[in-house]
Amino acid sequence: MNAVTQHAPTVRSTCPYCGVGCGLLAQPDRRGGAAIAGDPTHPANLGRLCSKGSALGETVGLEGRLLHPMLRRADGRLARAGWTQALDAVAGGFRTVIERDGPDAVAFYLSGQLLTEDYYVANKLMKGFIGSANVDTNSRLCMASSVAGHRRAFGADTVPGSYTDLDLADLVVLVGSNAAWCHPVLFQRIMRNKAQRGARVVVIDPRRTVTAQEADLFLGIAPGTDTVLFCGLLVHLAERGALDAAYVETHTNGFADTLARARTIAPDAPTTARLCGVAEADIAQFFNLFYASARTVTGYSQGVNQSAQGTDKVNAIINCHLATGRIGRPGMGPLSLTGQPNAMGGREVGGLANQLAAHMGFAPDEVDRVRRFWNAPRMATREGHKAVQMFEAIERGEIKALWVMATNPAVSLPRAGAMKAALARLELFVVSENVSSNDTVNAGAHVLLPAAAWGEKDGTVTNSERCISRQRAFLPPPGEARPDWRIVSAVAQRLGFAEAFSFGSEADVFREHAALSGFENAGTRDFDIGGLATMSDPDYAALEPVQWPVRAGEEPGAPAGEKRFFADGGFFTPDRKARFVAPQPPALQESTSAAFPFRLNTGRIRDQWHTMTRTGQSPRLAAHLAEPFVEVHPGDAGTMGLADGGFAKVSTAHGACILKVMVTDNQQPGSLFVPIHWSDETASCARVGDLVAPRTDPHSGQPEAKATPAAIAPVDFALRGFARTRSAPTLPDGTWWAKVAVAEGIEYRLATNLGPLFWHDFAYRWIGQDAPLAERLDGTLYRAAAFLDGHLDGCVCVAPAEDTAPQWDLAGLAAAAAAEAGGRRIPKVEACDYIGETEQVVCACFKVGLDAVRKAVHSGGATTVGDIGRTLGAGTNCGSCLPELKRIIVDERIAHPL
Ligand code: SF4
Repeated sequence: MNAVTQHAPTVRSTCPYCGVGCGLLAQPDRRGGAAIAGDPTHPANLGRLCSKGSALGETVGLEGRLLHPMLRRADGRLARAGWTQALDAVAGGFRTVIERDGPDAVAFYLSGQLLTEDYYVANKLMKGFIGSANVDTNSRLCMASSVAGHRRAFGADTVPGSYTDLDLADLVVLVGSNAAWCHPVLFQRIMRNKAQRGARVVVIDPRRTVTAQEADLFLGIAPGTDTVLFCGLLVHLAERGALDAAYVETHTNGFADTLARARTIAPDAPTTARLCGVAEADIAQFFNLFYASARTVTGYSQGVNQSAQGTDKVNAIINCHLATGRIGRPGMGPLSLTGQPNAMGGREVGGLANQLAAHMGFAPDEVDRVRRFWNAPRMATREGHKAVQMFEAIERGEIKALWVMATNPAVSLPRAGAMKAALARLELFVVSENVSSNDTVNAGAHVLLPAAAWGEKDGTVTNSERCISRQRAFLPPPGEARPDWRIVSAVAQRLGFAEAFSFGSEADVFREHAALSGFENAGTRDFDIGGLATMSDPDYAALEPVQWPVRAGEEPGAPAGEKRFFADGGFFTPDRKARFVAPQPPALQESTSAAFPFRLNTGRIRDQWHTMTRTGQSPRLAAHLAEPFVEVHPGDAGTMGLADGGFAKVSTAHGACILKVMVTDNQQPGSLFVPIHWSDETASCARVGDLVAPRTDPHSGQPEAKATPAAIAPVDFALRGFARTRSAPTLPDGTWWAKVAVAEGIEYRLATNLGPLFWHDFAYRWIGQDAPLAERLDGTLYRAAAFLDGHLDGCVCVAPAEDTAPQWDLAGLAAAAAAEAGGRRIPKVEACDYIGETEQVVCACFKVGLDAVRKAVHSGGATTVGDIGRTLGAGTNCGSCLPELKRIIVDERIAHPL
């Protein structure tokens, strides 16, 4: 797939999605697109890409792009403006608010999708020159609890290990991580270790995810009991004499108190099992595996971080690794699996409101050091508002000017609807974006600034293993789009800071960032890339992936993927010892009630990314799970009267969504799961952020996105169907819809109580303007299709909801229309061989659908994923679908035994 021919010019870059940070090769096609392949030399992926990375070439089109600066006029409309006018408006607006209300009345909200250079310039402007630390980022929603846990234990936000540890471990424990979908390339790496070296895999998660299905042992713990489990493990290890007493004695503090606390929380395995809701035998097996496997990596992700006790959960995990000395050595250690492509780079520059810069905080000596380095006139001296608090301050009217860059908080924040409404209170609301319309832009932005997108800009990102890689441009920026660092620098210059923001290139910014990391850093700070501070422009252009630290004057040390911290102590605390952290007894999560008896969990799906502004353009990615859904346990579905494939209203104290029902025993009774990706741009009522409570962790400020009390009830629609149009139609209130990328035009999945007459009018309005319309009404099965130049140009089809296999038969409709037209304008019938609601695609790379896989198994010809690969090709490219293929084989063989 997407093979890059041997002789074609290619550009080496990195994937813009998850924190694995895969290297890739991009070959522009000179028509505005590009072929994408994995970079075999990049240490993160060694040539592999997942389904999302493989489909990147489908997502670089200019559909929906913001191409010019826009200013909101007095009549409320956005109108095109020049860059000078737009930048003057931003600088003038910020200056007015700062002079009148002080620097804490303004804020930046940044993104893990920004490049390090963009992040650095924005952070420098706000914290060194405006004088506020109100800079936060969507990474707060992703891994802030890991950062806080690292800092409490290690004295710095240090990821101790490397991806190669996943190849070398004898035991990989995945906690709150659906890595098979969210970090697919790393997951396949773990699976290779399992297959080739016999590594064991334990998955700990309230949901039986596709990751769990691949595990040797799955612990389906009760939501929120991770701390109990790891306290129980610590007690067990202590009692079996599995601790590394010398390491604990020499390199750590606080063990005795932490063990005592663990004993109060989980005194023994039976209590641990009872509190976690897991069989005692399974707990015993996990404890035994951990006890027996010196080479253990514990990977954890959003299921741990997105919690009101997330930091304690992180520290409960780290405690077990410190106690056994299993840290910083090959094949062992805690490993935070970062969600976003440059969350780590954002942390490096200080993009979080509770960091200053270069892994320094707000201690007076650190503030002074950064002040001297930047020659900063107005340093922030204390932490700013973290994300949720920042938007609450906007809601209260305390923050009056906000600049959002490369993120969509009106979708992703807890209480997203209220946060979206709060944006309307801003005196100045600036958005730097790639797209001209999303929920945040549409919340009333006063200034829109067109930012260069992935593939159009240069810079660096840092992945989950501290590996800095170049993102390189391979397409020209369209319209007047500019890189974010240039936009911020231009505003800084207008605010009077021309000298400090006179960067001429990305390389200039990177060199300054590198120099700050090494400034007065005699090994006392973990983040140090001072050795890169004097790179020439050509060296920066050719920079190979490099894992930090890269200290000035030192030998480069181990190659990328091999550098580790803490095998021999050397933590970044004042006494250079790690700190055990005694977690609080797990507080009760927000209680369920008679009104909200369920617990709402949220997360990602395999083939979409964040709010779908990029992945939502790819037809093959859309075909995996095309519609917003809620997963419900069969018992709950029965109790609540929910049918698989039907619809449900999921509501919390904060909002409601209407979603397709997916009944599955992978979900625990009492729990619901809803994906995070849909917004008001892509569905009628599926913005799950609206439902999430704003409870946050006291240390990290990360919101608890996985445990909001919720209710669910069935919703009935009389008709279901779909429409394909060339332009976005206006769909009526009360009609459920979800937008799906298709090869030509736009498809809307529909569920409605409006009868055929309405859809007849709709068809004439939205698809019959330029083309002859063929229509049929059979009872309440209504079909209309427009044909232009012999091709299907658009269609609207609705059928009774109880008809599970309606005969859309657009080819027949075309033939009948042609016959009625006396043979004139005969459409190509084969071009209308169109199945309407496309079946679910399992393998996105080769577009292999669920039915084809089922048939291959059912026929008896395919009994393994290898057989499926040989017959259908599925699973032979990126491997993202392998766990699902295995599940389908098992399900089919149970349903249809040979
Ligand atoms: S695993 Fe997939 S999404 Fe993540 S960086 Fe690699 S190709 Fe991109």
